[in-house]
Amino acid sequence: MTKNLVGLCLGVLYFAISACGSSPDLKNGPAAGGGKADATAAKPTGGADTSGVSTFVPGGKIPPPSVILGRQQVPILCYHQIRDWKPTDSKSAKDYIMPIADFRAQVKMLHDSGYHTILPDQLYAYLTTGAALPSKPVMLTFDDNDEDQYTIAFPELKKYGYKGVFFIMTITLGKLPHYMSKEQVKELYDAGNVIGSHTWDHHNVKKYQGKDWEIQIDKPTKQLEAITGKPIRYFAYPFGLWNAQAFPELRKRGFIAAFGLADKRDQNDPLMCIRRIIVGGGWGLKTFSNAMHQSFK
Ligand SMILES: [Zn+2]
Repeated sequence: MTKNLVGLCLGVLYFAISACGSSPDLKNGPAAGGGKADATAAKPTGGADTSGVSTFVPGGKIPPPSVILGRQQVPILCYHQIRDWKPTDSKSAKDYIMPIADFRAQVKMLHDSGYHTILPDQLYAYLTTGAALPSKPVMLTFDDNDEDQYTIAFPELKKYGYKGVFFIMTITLGKLPHYMSKEQVKELYDAGNVIGSHTWDHHNVKKYQGKDWEIQIDKPTKQLEAITGKPIRYFAYPFGLWNAQAFPELRKRGFIAAFGLADKRDQNDPLMCIRRIIVGGGWGLKTFSNAMHQSFK
């Protein structure tokens, strides 16, 4: 790797970390924890695989937005780096760096509390048709292709039979040791995790013009499809930033749903701006649990 490339990657990483924006949910303060997410608990359909592997093939009619907006939101958590803090990590960077022991404690708590991870096809089926989800559904998502998502998160999820969604920023593919290789992404996919698109170099979707759609969306998505051998149907907006102009552009390219961060959803097209929260690096388990319940009412 050339020096320039290292600089570029670090620049991208810094940009990604510094510009993701803080999660407003952190500032809402603790909410009454407790069973809100249980409201989504639905009996698994006959023969449904509650391990998180979906057999649903999306298609068909999308219901009116009011129907989708009227359904109880599923908690969707977003992680970036999973590693212990270094003295050089800035205060704002730490919001996006989850210490390893904390991550493990969070996943264990989800498991011990009876949560089941779900994947985007299941969420899509639930939102568009009302299809049943496993009890206590949660979605775990990982952005930017950080290698510790493979070395730390992947084995941790496997321990509990959990599956996750990995949104890959393709400029970083193979830039070891900080980012995953194509082979590692393939391994995640082969193990039943979902691979989603997250642009080429984290460029803000709201600013695309001219060839940006090709550079940021078409080519990276093709590259990911070449790795998995299957269509990529889900997208995550860099920095969680979206506008309604992006929706038809993404649909045109085969995406059926897209994920933002904690912002309010678009009232006309909620499938293209599904909400997630970034789990803050300094959160204790109580804050973690409260945020999950508070943010997805
Ligand atoms: Zn990102």
